[in-house]
Amino acid sequence: MKVVNACVVCGSRKLSKRFGQFAPFVAHRIADYPMGTINIGGQTLHPPLFTNSMRCADCGFVFSQIRFEDDELQRLYQDYRGPEYTRVRNFFEPGYDKLNERIGSSPLEVRNRAAALMGFLQGLVDPRSRTSVLDYGGDMGQHIPQDFAHCRRFVFDISRVATVDGVSIVNDVNGLGVMDFVICSNVLEHVPFPARVIDDIKKVCGPDTVLFIDVPLEMNPAQDPPDQEIPAFFHEHVNYFTPRSINALLRYHGFSTLKTELFTIDMGWVTGHAIYVLARPNWFVSITQNAAQQAAPQAAPEASAASAAAALLAGAPVR
Ligand SMILES: [Zn+2]
Repeated sequence: MKVVNACVVCGSRKLSKRFGQFAPFVAHRIADYPMGTINIGGQTLHPPLFTNSMRCADCGFVFSQIRFEDDELQRLYQDYRGPEYTRVRNFFEPGYDKLNERIGSSPLEVRNRAAALMGFLQGLVDPRSRTSVLDYGGDMGQHIPQDFAHCRRFVFDISRVATVDGVSIVNDVNGLGVMDFVICSNVLEHVPFPARVIDDIKKVCGPDTVLFIDVPLEMNPAQDPPDQEIPAFFHEHVNYFTPRSINALLRYHGFSTLKTELFTIDMGWVTGHAIYVLARPNWFVSITQNAAQQAAPQAAPEASAASAAAALLAGAPVR
């Protein structure tokens, strides 16, 4: 485990904190705490693993101060959603087995996620102009919309072997070459160091690559809640993004954002709120063009998304 004292998105040390914890299942897998209960202050509970929830004053990112190392992540995600994983998680979280049968693979979720993505891309990315797609962390490749069926399609994922028809799995993006459309969906909220994922994705970027990222919207960025109200419970998600922080992450890695929007998606097993971002690499742009763009700055796309987030989480109909 690493205890970080700087924002893992922007490097700022202007951090505030709230005491928090990891779920007991995570504590068991990471620290080998027993599958049993303890008594603390008259309460019987499965032992949790404590951490601080940190908020960056500069980019708004909220994250666990304790970050897991590679070997710990391997223990946490070993046999992910497989029989043994499900049995143990069900011990700590009764009912997980029923949920697990539906996560990610129900026809309704696959259909609704693809429809939302295609709606988001409309007018910006024409699938007919694309020849290759990489879904980074994309499970079995089932979430690559059929509109891209004519493309060479790859999924980078360490948790599964089987993929859907027409999609090849890769365990390493080195040697894959340039991909002209990259999807990174529901990945960045899981990883201790999001910059490492972005660095990996940069290896397959060319001048015409377009990158689509979506992360859950699990806190209200517009209300700017006091520190004692920021999320402080961590499970699979060790990061809580806002439109501002996901855009900061992309900007620091040389991407420019084309569009940021909030979506609500019925996945059958849950209704999810998500931040969608479309970006492209900026480092292929010539110095002259870059200078011209900086001379005429455009409105930050995340600003309008932040106010829409407040409406969405308040129950207003934002698509
Ligand atoms: Zn930050």
